[in-house]
Amino acid sequence: MSLKFSGDRLLIATHNAGKLEEMGQLFRPRGITVVGAAELGLTEPEETETTFVGNARIKAHAAAKATGLPALADDSGIEVDALDGAPGVYTADWAETPEGRDFLMAMRKTHNLIAASDAAKPWRARFCATLVLAWPDGEDVVAAGTVEGTLQWPIRGAQGHGYDPMFQPDGYDITFAEMASAEKNRISHRADAFAKLITACFD
Ligand code: IMP
Repeated sequence: MSLKFSGDRLLIATHNAGKLEEMGQLFRPRGITVVGAAELGLTEPEETETTFVGNARIKAHAAAKATGLPALADDSGIEVDALDGAPGVYTADWAETPEGRDFLMAMRKTHNLIAASDAAKPWRARFCATLVLAWPDGEDVVAAGTVEGTLQWPIRGAQGHGYDPMFQPDGYDITFAEMASAEKNRISHRADAFAKLITACFD
């Protein structure tokens, strides 16, 4: 099934200003402006599923149903082979503290668990991103992207966010946090998913 988007304003089902800005940059060259869920006064649904696609679907369909407009949502995280795919959909949760998100703490926890598992190096991992574009009638299109690599310890680099300082993509000897953002945005899981979504719904 192929559903094409033909408008010039797209609702992004996120309350995260960083994600909204990133989506805005990706869609601007296509003459599409983005509007965030917060701007339309939407509440954030609970992410109760155990998969990236499940949680992205919850967010996209809730926003499409509430507004009567097509809505785009994403869900992402990092899967570590030595930890049977954890933290996966719970990546952001691993960083939660009473004072907010602490990714240094989350990366240290990840490292300690891998070290305790005696897993042989290289420690394989992948970033995953799933985009869901949902229509108010309940139809949707799913686009999933990944970038494969290894986890590094000690962490390296100061750019980016989240687990970037620990993740070295295959074919590079620098981590995402040591890489220019333009280069990361060219090869990332999100770029991979976005390219697939564009082919499916916007070309
Ligand atoms: P969510 O998609 O808002 O549930 O958040 C997923 C979490 O995965 C983020 O908070 C980050 O910790 C992590 N993550 C996803 N993509 C990236 C990335 O490109 N670099 C670093 N961490 C990421």
